[in-house]
Amino acid sequence: MRDILTAGRYFRQKFGCSVYKIPISISGFTCPNIDGSVARGGCVFCENESFSPNLNSKKGQKFTLSPSSKHNPFLEMQLSQLESQYKHTKAILSHKFKAKKFIIYFQSFTNTYAPLETLKALYQKALRFEDVVGLSIGTRTDSVSLEVLEYLSCLAQSKEVWVEYGIQSAFDETLQRINRGHDVENIIKYINLTRKYGLKVCAHLIFGLPKETKDMMLQSVKMAISLGVESLKIHPLYVVQKTALANDFVKGSFEPITQEMYIETLVEAFKIIPETTIVQRVSAGVSNQTLLSPKWCDDKHTQMKNIRIALKNSGLNY
Ligand code: SF4
Repeated sequence: MRDILTAGRYFRQKFGCSVYKIPISISGFTCPNIDGSVARGGCVFCENESFSPNLNSKKGQKFTLSPSSKHNPFLEMQLSQLESQYKHTKAILSHKFKAKKFIIYFQSFTNTYAPLETLKALYQKALRFEDVVGLSIGTRTDSVSLEVLEYLSCLAQSKEVWVEYGIQSAFDETLQRINRGHDVENIIKYINLTRKYGLKVCAHLIFGLPKETKDMMLQSVKMAISLGVESLKIHPLYVVQKTALANDFVKGSFEPITQEMYIETLVEAFKIIPETTIVQRVSAGVSNQTLLSPKWCDDKHTQMKNIRIALKNSGLNY
């Protein structure tokens, strides 16, 4: 039986104890695929209104940042939001798991899509929190500038710094179908660049995207591996209310992946994922009434149990 290099195992090896991610959602951040820079509406599965409330300007307009914003009147508020979310989650994790070390995970929206000065202020503040050993920054490959990569590479000299990119698929036709707003060439270019800057990359992949076959899903895994990413997150596509995918599902033009097919594909993926690749996630779901389908994604505990059993039958311990 071989132990898969999970995030837990990687962090324990590196820091001598468990390291917990603290997810952060900063108001005012958006995504070029939502604000119209690249597209509107976002990826077909993205319920973008639910991520975080937008800040309101004095005129009652929604305030959102972009890299070209000249002025950020809400920076102080964003910094205090960061601090309060950190303190709140840290208290819970410390109480529940006796957690001692943390990574600040800028998770919602596109977390490099803001003026560089805003990003610097947020990242620096996060790294000054007690017991924080690093950052993980969720973003898109079309939303990182060389200045941001250079700045992050400076931070990475003394801290653990990860950039998390949504690859989703290695197929342009799929990326178009899901309204991703960038192509595979963009993914390849910016993952290569990010790694050249010495930053660790975690690639997100989705199994069950519209019209994708098992072979296509495995090809996407192969592409991520060929790019040399240090880590992977894989999850099944599920449909939630108020998304374009929900409309397709209701019309009958999208059928979600079955649990059997998801797990079968995952087991095959592990045959090609190198032992040194950190696998941070293999499941996903939501346990509330917003989930439309598939129903097996409403119970992450059972989902994970079934995944573990299947992997064990293949000689792998997750
Ligand atoms: S890139 Fe992320 S935040 Fe932007 S639309 Fe897609 S899923 Fe939503």
